[in-house]
Amino acid sequence: MKGKRAYLVKPGKFEIREEEVSYNQDEVLVKVAVCGLCNWELNHWFGYLGTCPQTLGHEWAGEIVEVGSRVTNFKVGDKICYLPGKLEGFSQYAAASEDRCIKISEEFDIHKVLGEPLKDIVTVLKAAAAEPGDCGIVVGCGPMGLWCTQALSGNTLSCLIAVDIDDSKLALAKKFGATHTVNPKNCDAIQAISDITGGHMGDFVIEGTGNPGVLNQCIYYLKPTGRGRLLLMSSHETATKEFDFRPAVERSIDLRVPHPGHSLNQMEDLRRAVSLLEKGSFKIDGMITHEFSLDEINEGFRMLENKPKDYIKGIVLPWR
Ligand SMILES: [Zn+2]
Repeated sequence: MKGKRAYLVKPGKFEIREEEVSYNQDEVLVKVAVCGLCNWELNHWFGYLGTCPQTLGHEWAGEIVEVGSRVTNFKVGDKICYLPGKLEGFSQYAAASEDRCIKISEEFDIHKVLGEPLKDIVTVLKAAAAEPGDCGIVVGCGPMGLWCTQALSGNTLSCLIAVDIDDSKLALAKKFGATHTVNPKNCDAIQAISDITGGHMGDFVIEGTGNPGVLNQCIYYLKPTGRGRLLLMSSHETATKEFDFRPAVERSIDLRVPHPGHSLNQMEDLRRAVSLLEKGSFKIDGMITHEFSLDEINEGFRMLENKPKDYIKGIVLPWR
């Protein structure tokens, strides 16, 4: 099938090419409906990862238009989301091996399927291992922090505190189920969390800012009585040479690093993510703030690099 595909031809520049997309006999050919713009791929955009020309896009979903002869579980017309694999989502058509596809229900709007980031949230939540009555804290209300907040909201936590230095993001966290919000710019955050929890502090803290200084601060948000779980969700690109381990030792914290490689079964985490998405525990409405066509992909990445204040999550719609 012939379609458009974006190639990063040098750091900071995509070019759109029209080409025939082939597939193997154990693969399906998918008409890509949506592909999320992800901070991690900025590493390619800046030239730190991969060799140009290269294709990108790992958060994608679409509808099957052709199936290879050895494919047994999928048929033409099925909607799927893809476990990466290959980075080819910024394309009109992409091939996917069937053992990396999860079926999406007929009724669900395929343009709202972002399987990959939500799979990672499932991995984080499993590592957080929230118990009834826990006090949970989410630090950093970007898309990942907000999806964690949505999934943790409900009646089993005694409180769910969102922490961010941007009040508009805190308002969103509140809308998505945080019971309390704390802005460290306006108050002493440790004292505020102590007041909210009656001195107990957090049973677990999910850190999603990518700022090493904030990570240090998160240790003080944890309960002093031992085994508070600190979940390192961010992918800390900047090296930090100084990290104060004293408070971590004093509190006997349990540091967990639930990145994709931490998952024992990424397909299972993706399956769980899709079922939570279909059930409505993960929301897409209110999260997608910027949409781009394939031809606008350079603009999409420039905006990912310099996010405007109202930016939460951007997507590319290859058929727009
Ligand atoms: Zn991603």
